[in-house]
Parts: sequence; structure tokens; C-alpha cells
Amino acid sequence: MKKDLSNIKKSEFYLNKNECVGIPTETVYGLAANAYSNEATAKIFKLKKRSKKNPLIVHYYSIKDLKRDCEINSNFEKLYKIFCPGPITFVLKLKKKSKISKNVTNMKRTLAVRFPKHYLARKLLKNISYPLAAPSANISSKVSAVCRSDVAEEFGNKVKYILDGGTSKIGLESTIVSLINKPEILRLGGIELSKIKKVFKNKINFKIKSTKTVVPGQGALHYSPGIKIRLNARNPKIHEAFILIKKRKINVKNYFYLTKNNNLKEAGKNLYKTLRMIKKLKYKSISVEKIPNIGIGQTINDRLIRASKK
Ligand code: AMP
Ligand code: MG
Repeated sequence: MKKDLSNIKKSEFYLNKNECVGIPTETVYGLAANAYSNEATAKIFKLKKRSKKNPLIVHYYSIKDLKRDCEINSNFEKLYKIFCPGPITFVLKLKKKSKISKNVTNMKRTLAVRFPKHYLARKLLKNISYPLAAPSANISSKVSAVCRSDVAEEFGNKVKYILDGGTSKIGLESTIVSLINKPEILRLGGIELSKIKKVFKNKINFKIKSTKTVVPGQGALHYSPGIKIRLNARNPKIHEAFILIKKRKINVKNYFYLTKNNNLKEAGKNLYKTLRMIKKLKYKSISVEKIPNIGIGQTINDRLIRASKK
């Protein structure tokens, strides 16, 4: 416990100096910086090689903190009660008097906000006097990071400090819901779509398949290990890495199981770790067994489809 606290202090030290810090969350690791600072948030874009047009998600400790920057509404309150803190991001109206840096929003009047559940992220957010802008801690378009060493692999010593919080429990990014007008899902994520639909008795828009994407980070080629990916494969081709979820009788070294017993949540947790491992083993192509398109399987498929785009 003592050790944890000194690491939190170290993170605060660098964040207070307008530096970026890698932080653990239950979804994936974030590359965090003071969301009120132009200097700090500019560094996120530079480190990630991220387009300035792609706005950032801002992380808060409490609704009280959030109210400094955003207007809340009854749909927000409904979802917050059920899912927060947790893997859900809300797009809300930005208040005129908000101090959020213009870099974060790409000059928009809306803000994407989240309340992470990871205990270290919460401790850190409680201690500091500003919210944290924190996109996933990976170079843009690449596979997200789910542990400390993944973040180090992405940025080397360019990031001043990485707070170690073990492996992310969910291993997939948050579900994004816009609450500006009628509730609308902008990105599938760590919370199953059916659970959110239930809250609104199915009266919710779902924009994800649109090619004219609302969410910039939803463009083609995202979450990519930089290797060719073939989906819905029955069997691998020779020399191909094969990602599976159903146990088979044969077990060869190019078989990579996402789950031991057909558990889609476990599969989600292992997805990025497996893609990184396959890349390290220098496979030139990957085939993936069909993943059931239910529950978290929908999010896994969404990521795999984007990762397989050329
Ligand atoms: P990541 O870079 O993985 O943290 O993903 C952040 C996602 O949130 C990106 O797809 C952004 O485009 C999206 N996002 C951030 N702010 C907004 C906003 N104001 N409206 C809609 N989407 C947003
Ligand atoms: Mg990302």
C-alpha cells in the first residue's frame, strides 16, 4: 500500500509539471495529462502521433468535479448510477466557463468524459485538482496497451513515468455514448450494448456502421498490430498465427487461445495481449476463428474488423 502511494505521488509530480504519465485503467492504459493545460495536452498528440482533429476523453473522479466543465442531464444520471465508475464514456455539452484546453475538444462545444474504476486511477484523480485527458496509451492506429510494459514498448523513455497497476481487467476501450440529443452509441466497448439498450428500452441510436464516421477514432485501420488479419477462418494457412476461442483437440504452437472455456469477457481481456505477442513472434499473417457476435463478442469483432482494414 505504501509503495502504491509513493507511485501516485510520482505521477502527480510529473502531471503537475505538465508532463504525460501512463496510467492504469480497467479498460486499457491511458496516456494522461492535465486536461486544463494547453502545454500538457499538446504533448499527448505529439507522443501518440495523433491527429489534432481527434478529440480526447477526459477522466474525472466525481460528478461534482465534472460539473465544473459539463452540463449533465437525466440520461447521464441514469447511466452513471448503473455503470459508473466503469468502462463507459459520455459525450456531454461543454460549459462556457469550462477551463478544458481547446486541444482536448478540437474546438468543439462537446466533451467526452469518463469515470475510471481502477483504484489507482481513482486515487490519482482524487489527489489532483484537475481532470486528466487520457487517450489510450499507444501510437495512433496501433494496438492499445493493457499493462505497464506495453506502454513502455510504445513510447520508450519519451513518457516521463508509467504508473503500474497490473493488467487491465477489461482489456478493451470504453463504450462511448453521446447524450447531446437522443442517446446514441458512438463506439462499442467494455459495456455490452444490450445492457445500455435496456436502460433506454431500446430507444437508442447506433451510428457505428456508418462510413461517414462521427467519431474520428472510429476510422478504418485502428487497433492494428501491423500484420495482415483474416477473419472468420476455419483453419489457419501454413505459417499463420491462428486466434481461437473454442478448444480444439490439436494444439500447435501457432494456436493462440483467447479464452480457456469459451468466455467472451476473458477473450476480450486477452485480445490485445495476444495480438502483441503474435507480432513479437514475427508472424506475417493472422487468421481468426469466428467470434460469436453477442455480448462483449460484438466489441471484439468491432476491433478485429478495424484491425484487419488495410
Ligand atoms: P482513444 O483515443 O482510444 O482514447 O479514443 C477516444 C475516442 O473518443 C475517439 O474515438 C474520439 O474521437 C472520441 N471522442 C472524444 N471526444 C469526443 C466528442 N466530443 N465527441 C465524439 N467523440 C469523441
Ligand atoms: Mg485509442
